[in-house]
Amino acid sequence: MATSGTTGAPIHLYLTAHDLERLAVCEAYTFAAAGFTGRDIVQLCVTMDNLFMAGLAYYLGLQRLGCAVLRQGPANPARQLALLERNQVTGIVTVPSFLNALSKEWDRQRRGRDALRLKRAVLVGENIRTPALAPNAIARSIARNWNVQLYGNYGNSEMHGSMGECRFGCGCHVYPDLVHAEIVDPAGRPLPPGEPGLLVVTPLRLEGTPLIRYRTGDIACLLAGPCRCGRTGPRLGPILAREGQMLKVKGTKLYPSAVIDALHGIGGIEDFAVVADRDDHLADRLTVRVALAASSRLTPKAISDRLYARLRVHPVVQCASREDLAALTLPPGYRKKRVFIDQRPALE
Ligand SMILES: [Zn+2]
Repeated sequence: MATSGTTGAPIHLYLTAHDLERLAVCEAYTFAAAGFTGRDIVQLCVTMDNLFMAGLAYYLGLQRLGCAVLRQGPANPARQLALLERNQVTGIVTVPSFLNALSKEWDRQRRGRDALRLKRAVLVGENIRTPALAPNAIARSIARNWNVQLYGNYGNSEMHGSMGECRFGCGCHVYPDLVHAEIVDPAGRPLPPGEPGLLVVTPLRLEGTPLIRYRTGDIACLLAGPCRCGRTGPRLGPILAREGQMLKVKGTKLYPSAVIDALHGIGGIEDFAVVADRDDHLADRLTVRVALAASSRLTPKAISDRLYARLRVHPVVQCASREDLAALTLPPGYRKKRVFIDQRPALE
């Protein structure tokens, strides 16, 4: 397996037969928490090949629960919908934005949702909750289009698996028999529950590529106290940012995830990128590039004012074509779209 290399050279990980078994157990926990059983038919809309750990992990976990699995991969909305209907699929695993793409395609075909039996969606790779655990803008837009229960998920290849939400949606359950999770300050000292810091994980019982206190680079909180589902271990709150991504714009501190969530909440924006760089005084500067829907009457100033109302920061807003945004957010050689582009040079 190899990591996606979003923030550097891909890291190669080696799994023994025991590690693959452990991976299946971990993902079976995740899907069981989301209510999947052997009666579910599940469509996997994530990459299955290219040394990608997550696709294989989900497949192994679902298979262990006894689910029927359709390995469709991440593209081609029309074919995805045909498979969902033909096979009466009950669960889907995908990135949140792809569910909205499926909804657009279904509407384009002028079909009623009652032809589908979809009940549950496990949403990976992007947050679906605000830091207060309420559904964020993208989760709310999915809920308007699909009558399905949404489950957040956090995972990375180095951790060898994921953590998932139960139906109460109050953070991703950490499985204490498989991973030891800590939140630490910049000096590596553990922080108490509820305080944001760097997520450090020690995946347990690994043979091929054991890791101790692996710095994930993700900023989040751990939440303590029993969940209403009866699980008593810690839960991981939404990812607030990547390490070092916190912005300070004219004295106001904010995380890129807040800007992204605010942009998802503005109707008429079809696609966007959030770019951070520094001005002549080495202060952080925030530029938002947007592609507007053809019917939209939004102006850059109106968007900047809407963002100010949420964030107390006035970003520079520029209109861009969808092609320009695609070149910015998914440059050649990248496997994952990146909506936040950090162009700030390192300070001496
Ligand atoms: Zn729970």
